Amino acid sequence: MIQFINVVKKYPNGTTALNNINLRIERGEFVAVIGLSGAGKSTLIRCINRMHDISGGKIIVDRVDVSKLKGQHIRKFRRKIGMIFQSFNLVTRTTVINNVLVSFVPDLPMWRKIIGIFTKEQKIKALEALDKVGILDKAFVRVDQLSGGQQQRVALARTLAQNPDIILADEPIASLDPVTARIVMDDFKKINKEMNISVIMNIHHVEIALEYADRIIGIRKGEVVFDGETSKVTQEILQDIYGGKWDVEKEAIEEQAAYV
Ligand code: ADP
Repeated sequence: MIQFINVVKKYPNGTTALNNINLRIERGEFVAVIGLSGAGKSTLIRCINRMHDISGGKIIVDRVDVSKLKGQHIRKFRRKIGMIFQSFNLVTRTTVINNVLVSFVPDLPMWRKIIGIFTKEQKIKALEALDKVGILDKAFVRVDQLSGGQQQRVALARTLAQNPDIILADEPIASLDPVTARIVMDDFKKINKEMNISVIMNIHHVEIALEYADRIIGIRKGEVVFDGETSKVTQEILQDIYGGKWDVEKEAIEEQAAYV
């Protein structure tokens, strides 16, 4: 369970990115965070695993007060929380399997990760993770030979190999075309439902958010202006989340999708 209690995040330059956020996300939920660019979506997600420190309030994850974690405890805590980015963050000059195996030794230098210090059990686990996202046949292919969608699935497999309770995804489909985006979203959904892993996703493409997420959190200027079941989201609510600019935003999203 993730709980935000009166969370405030101010950046050193004085920008208040989150203003008194209160939320409770249960294990196994699939949550999409939506809102205009600059609304605070990415900050909200990144505070959960302490990529950003909050300035006020509390974030509790499975009874742990995230702000109080230090050093080794932060690293251990982060092992339970997978993170997926728009840019995949893979080592493209090596194979898919090496990229997944990397998840077992986060604290070692890259050269040791690549020369094969992994146990048979770890290798099997990595292959199972690739199987889960449907790219087992690509295990020994170099990452730079794969499409964007396949690369994002490698990133997902790498996260899965970590056995996470939670996956945070910061714009995971922003650089994918709508067809590929849905293939990747299908994987997120499958992982969420079959493995009971919570998914909290910051997503620009509202139509896809509404199609896949069970719950929508709408952020406007650092505040939660909607939090509820996806089926409850109306055009009026979208107008509110997007500060009356929903029509313009909708058009921009459609246009962007057509060009990816
Ligand atoms: P979103 O993900 O909704 O686009 P962000 O969380 O990235 O929004 O940003 C929220 C606000 O915080 C914006 O005003 C943005 O300019 C500001 N911001 C984000 N990151 C930083 C940073 N590292 N330093 C200062 N301001 C930041």
